[in-house]
Amino acid sequence: DYSEKLLSQKNGTENLEIPEVKDYQRRKVPGDEVLEQEVYGIDPYTHNLLRDIMPADVSLSSADKHTFIEELLLNTLNKQVRDFTGSGNTPMVYPLKPVIEEIQKSAEESGDRRTAKMCLGMLKAMRSRPEHNYVAYRKGLGVVCNKKGGFGMDDFVIEFFGEVYPSWRWYEKQDGIKHIQNNSEDQAPEFYNIMLERPKGDRDGYDLVFVDAMHKANYASRICHSCNPNCEAKVTAVDGQYQIGVYTVRPIAEGEEITFDYNSVTESKEEHEASVCLCGSQVCRGSYLNFSGEGAFEKVVLMEFHGVLDRHSLLLQACEANTVSQQDLIDLGRAGLGTCLLAGLPGWLVAYTAQLVRFIFFERQKLPNEIFKHNMEEKRQFFTDINMDSERNDAEVQAEGVLNSRLQHLTHTLDKVG
Ligand SMILES: [Zn+2]
Repeated sequence: DYSEKLLSQKNGTENLEIPEVKDYQRRKVPGDEVLEQEVYGIDPYTHNLLRDIMPADVSLSSADKHTFIEELLLNTLNKQVRDFTGSGNTPMVYPLKPVIEEIQKSAEESGDRRTAKMCLGMLKAMRSRPEHNYVAYRKGLGVVCNKKGGFGMDDFVIEFFGEVYPSWRWYEKQDGIKHIQNNSEDQAPEFYNIMLERPKGDRDGYDLVFVDAMHKANYASRICHSCNPNCEAKVTAVDGQYQIGVYTVRPIAEGEEITFDYNSVTESKEEHEASVCLCGSQVCRGSYLNFSGEGAFEKVVLMEFHGVLDRHSLLLQACEANTVSQQDLIDLGRAGLGTCLLAGLPGWLVAYTAQLVRFIFFERQKLPNEIFKHNMEEKRQFFTDINMDSERNDAEVQAEGVLNSRLQHLTHTLDKVG
């Protein structure tokens, strides 16, 4: 419960996140319970086009419309394009007309006159607006549920598999790759890696590694992103080992594509714009990468309380002490930093890390107000009716996100030094 977590965080009574222990479960068998196949999706623009041509004379709730697009349309689409898999002849776009025709046909066969009528209305509107492009776009290989009766709730699908890198080694490798690709054109990045975060409540504390599925992989790395996913990828402890398990967050029907939210961040505007999301969901964010640049409001506290002189002063204090105090250990523990990350580091560096952690917590207290002010200014330009409570809550969530990304950056840096 997030509000409870926020409250306990404010009161300083929060329990650090502990490993989620799960029993061993068999992964879903590829080629049987799941299929790896070519998958297609629609962008938010096409989603709106489709909503626009839904006939007014069929009474449809907003939920009916979403269900039609997100379940019926996408599932039928991915059934139709399945045969492209491995054919070496996969088009980048696929027309939606035959998809709606098939839905209409099977609705008629099953006596669902409402859906059939809706499809007929949509097909008619499509014919009358030939200037619009009613197409789906290729996403690449994805994973689709192929089990009769589908999957249940909180069901284990598969664990991630790949080569594990400590973050310093990972970034060294990325730098090398970038260096080689320097001349190639700007493309949407492909994702075959995922970050495994050791829970802050682990006895040895927080740390992170990268799991790279570029060369050694199973189908987990083929699962596509969705802004409204049916699975989540989470760190679990199974038989005493951490893994990233993909678990369903709601029942999944046969023929439905398996997805999770990548929760990936980019600081590059070009990359953000090139990564058009094709999840087709009504809550689609438009890009499968979250843009973290230009968060000027996030820098307010940083500029005022953590300038060049502040930073040097903290560093000098830490060097002068060159030893780790009891308070340092308490504050590092509050952030979940323990032996896993800090063992072997010189005293001054651990003391300096504690100084930085204290600033990160200080900023966490200050930031919600700044974010709230900033968001209100933005929203007042477009909305008159703003829910203050939810705005306050959003600001807290965003501030928490900043804290977590600061701790991640700190961890990367310490990994490099260690
Ligand atoms: Zn999306």
